[in-house]
Amino acid sequence: MAAKPRQGAQKELVSTLTGRRYPFSRIQEFTDDGESLEVHTGDLANASIRSGKHLWERFADFMPFENLDTDISLGEGQTALLHAGPELAAFTGVERLLLKNETQNPTWSFKDRGSLTCIAMAREMGEDVTATISTGNMGNSIAAYAAKAGMRAIVFVPEFTPSEKVMAMGIHGASVLKITGPDYAQIKKELLDMAGEISLRLVSGNGPIRVEGYKMIAFELFEQMEGEVPDYIAVPTSACGHTRGIFKGYRELKEAGLIHKIPKMIVVQARNNSPIVSAIKQGKRQVIPFTGFHTVAEAITSGNPMGGDEIIDKAARFGWLAEDVTEEEILDSQRRLAGAGYFVEPAAATSLAAIRKLRGDGKLEREASVVMMLTGSGLKDMSVMHHHHADVRETDVAGAGQAVRAMLDG
Ligand SMILES: *Cc1c(COP(=O)(O)O)cnc(C)c1O
Repeated sequence: MAAKPRQGAQKELVSTLTGRRYPFSRIQEFTDDGESLEVHTGDLANASIRSGKHLWERFADFMPFENLDTDISLGEGQTALLHAGPELAAFTGVERLLLKNETQNPTWSFKDRGSLTCIAMAREMGEDVTATISTGNMGNSIAAYAAKAGMRAIVFVPEFTPSEKVMAMGIHGASVLKITGPDYAQIKKELLDMAGEISLRLVSGNGPIRVEGYKMIAFELFEQMEGEVPDYIAVPTSACGHTRGIFKGYRELKEAGLIHKIPKMIVVQARNNSPIVSAIKQGKRQVIPFTGFHTVAEAITSGNPMGGDEIIDKAARFGWLAEDVTEEEILDSQRRLAGAGYFVEPAAATSLAAIRKLRGDGKLEREASVVMMLTGSGLKDMSVMHHHHADVRETDVAGAGQAVRAMLDG
């Protein structure tokens, strides 16, 4: 089964900062100057929603594929959108707090929607090897989608990637190369150059095709909220692909006349590594690089993200919010979300504390509708569990009754 694009749609790659245009056939992650690229599929004024089982079939007018082969899907998307409940609403001070639970994806993070489009494009280009560099979730996701499509996957990871994620890549059959070195951002730049030299397509977290996958989140939210547009969407941000993908999806819905306003994004980072949030808060126009940091939120550790300047630029132009959170706030948020039924990894928990702080500073209104992206599952990094208390005791069966009474009392 395949979805056909609109007749006559002109595809191009456009630099998000200079507006310079590049041919679509020359798919690259960034321009030579390191600017983010995005796909333009021509005039969307006549784009419409079709019928179809898959989201990308219904929104085929917005997608850049000749054929999107449904056989490579692992059933990504269709994740729950739920009200956060009274406790988290009270904690943040935001009444209409909604959780978009991306941990329900096939490899337990939002990365799967982007891997679907990356692998689809690799197929369309006739490639049989794909590669990525990742702190974990993207490698895990690419490994699974490559396995489904019958392609080889090579994943470069930094040393600090949790073993849960490395093992998951391995069991899908990916070849994993751990790269040692202090500066992940620098490693990433050098690997992108190396890949170019050996003609290996290395997909990063912020490439134009990946962003096309993430924009489907906007389409899914549009359907789930029955056309209503949330005031804000909070996203823990690292390589920036997720943030700009969701925003791009909403802008395209507006271009097609399907909605009349677009949400504001809330850019969230760990204080220990906040190259984008620091720049926005200080009114700078460029990323402020971070090196030599540590954060429990290892999934958001791009210290000098290529493409970060685009986010800073859009934050200024569209009135986005930005907030950083401390290590203690991250762990507290992880506990509170788990206490409400959602076990997410530390990176995914950051938004909760950020929303509370923005509300406390009066930057967010109590009545605002805010969607919080729960980006990845708590099972992906068990090493942080020593920061938390779990009530686990041991007894033989004869002592069970007494143990239960003790637990209920204590
Ligand atoms: C990748 C990732 C992020 C950051 O997304 P970017 O697109 O790199 O900005 C946030 N949370 C989790 C759990 C992730 O895996």
